[in-house]
Amino acid sequence: MKTTATASRQRTSVRSSRSQRTQGQAYGGNGHEKEHNGHPSVSPGLAAWLAKPKHNLIAGKWVSAANGKTFDVLNPADGSVIAHVPDSQSEDINRAVTAARKAFESGPWRQLTPSERGKIIWRIGDLILKNAEELAELESVDNGKPRAVAKVADVPLAADLFHYMAGWATKIEGNTIPISVPYAPGARFHAFTTREPVGVVGQIIPWNFPLLMVAWKLGPALATGNCVVLKPAEQTPLSALRFGELLLEAGVPEGVVNIVTGFGETAGAALAAHDGVDKIAFTGSTEVGKIIVRAAAGNLKKVSLELGGKSPNILFKDVPDLNAAIDGAASAIFFNHGQCCCAGSRLLVEKDIFDDVVSGVAERAKKIKLGPGLDAGTEMGPLVSEEQLNRVTRYMNQGKQDGACFVTGGSRQGDQGYFVQPTVITDTDPSMSIVREEIFGPVVVAQPFTKPEEMLPAANNSEYGLAAAVWTKDIAKAHRIAAELRAGTVWINCYNIFDAALPFGGYKQSGWGREMGHEVLNQYTQTKAVVIGL
Ligand code: NAP
Ligand code: MG
Repeated sequence: MKTTATASRQRTSVRSSRSQRTQGQAYGGNGHEKEHNGHPSVSPGLAAWLAKPKHNLIAGKWVSAANGKTFDVLNPADGSVIAHVPDSQSEDINRAVTAARKAFESGPWRQLTPSERGKIIWRIGDLILKNAEELAELESVDNGKPRAVAKVADVPLAADLFHYMAGWATKIEGNTIPISVPYAPGARFHAFTTREPVGVVGQIIPWNFPLLMVAWKLGPALATGNCVVLKPAEQTPLSALRFGELLLEAGVPEGVVNIVTGFGETAGAALAAHDGVDKIAFTGSTEVGKIIVRAAAGNLKKVSLELGGKSPNILFKDVPDLNAAIDGAASAIFFNHGQCCCAGSRLLVEKDIFDDVVSGVAERAKKIKLGPGLDAGTEMGPLVSEEQLNRVTRYMNQGKQDGACFVTGGSRQGDQGYFVQPTVITDTDPSMSIVREEIFGPVVVAQPFTKPEEMLPAANNSEYGLAAAVWTKDIAKAHRIAAELRAGTVWINCYNIFDAALPFGGYKQSGWGREMGHEVLNQYTQTKAVVIGL
């Protein structure tokens, strides 16, 4: 490393405990490909990449933080240090914003034709696929998720997003508008609109899908011709940095995308408040979303937010196939270890099949094989951090104190890494925090209902409104319920179906605006009306 200073972490007890837990050194590429704690370690290629010093990407160059400090990145499967990344502060954000502004105003980016821009974005998608193995492995050691899952979900979805957005670069169109102008009788005008990039965009992303969130954010920003400063999550900065290398390889001009690692309270806050930033796009907790909105007020930058959820998953007794619905309910909450903003964390089940569904989901929960993400047999990895482990176990302990029934799970698994047992809870009431608040772990609360009239208010009884699902054979009922659910996505007889073409985002406190689809392009462009007197 150029700099060895480690970030001082006096701000939170979590961070100080994190530095105390630090065991061993970052991967040195010298023997780390051997088994580690009886589990397969990273491949030699990734070990070599991890061993290289990590820097911010600013103006097309890899640079240390201005203060020279770094912080540790941990493998959540065992708490070992796998890399050190810049602990960036407001000075680094300043430099990145300046680079983005310069690239936006006077760099070659603006001069590219839409077709040339589209081709670069397409190449980014190709490069993701070309490096799929390495990216999946990196995502696994950084976030904890099984490598096999990252390989079939996160990585191809990220590539597909860029391929989808590449096509939009040539289709950002305005309108020709016939105007009447009643106070200018007889005068004639030619009026039209254009859609222009917003300018410099700050993007702050979370740790649950580190690479995919980079794609969701950068794809539309680049398709519409913006320049970006991106801050990845402190827990999972590595795939964004590797991705920066791929951006340069794809031919993205210098300064168009700047990647700055650091903590939310310092680097993130500086970006959200920066007067040189025209728009901030944030994904994360509702709590921090509100901080972002307040920080954006200084220069009234545009804001888009993709926040939390407590999504209802509703099973009627006339499900098309009970086994498939139980599989769906289990995967709705256990996919990505429950660390999904749209996780089906509230299971609402018609009374007649309640016992079967609860025992079915619990049986599936018990069979899930927990282990390090790099183990071939692992179905569920650790939570991302000790902070999340503590948060999830705190919720479960509160649920126990409140008198809920834990059908299965309810505790941490083992004492190494941040593993939590897949958990199914019944006998709750709507006032309990486990029913109301986003736990962001593999923990589902199941509640029975008898009539749709009583189920719907319960389903909508949340400050969140990100997603919901309905399982029934009755297509008319499915449509009626879908129309009544206050959620940005409703799945019918399926769950967790995403596509680059499908808009995703929240009602209520789950967010502002939409990710993906053509709707997201509106958030990265502004409309200019041009009127020509004839
Ligand atoms: P978070 O604090 O909302 O983090 C999201 C991003 O915001 C991270 O990059 C974070 O930086 C940054 N950030 C934090 N404070 C900031 C500030 N004051 N100004 C600007 N940026 C800031 O989420 P978390 O603490 O990682 O997780 C807490 C809970 O949030 C989870 O348990 C879950 O309920 C929810 N969550 C939701 C999503 C989602 O997809 N909607 C994703 C992750 C978490 P740091 O990395 O340094 O914190
Ligand atoms: Mg946080």
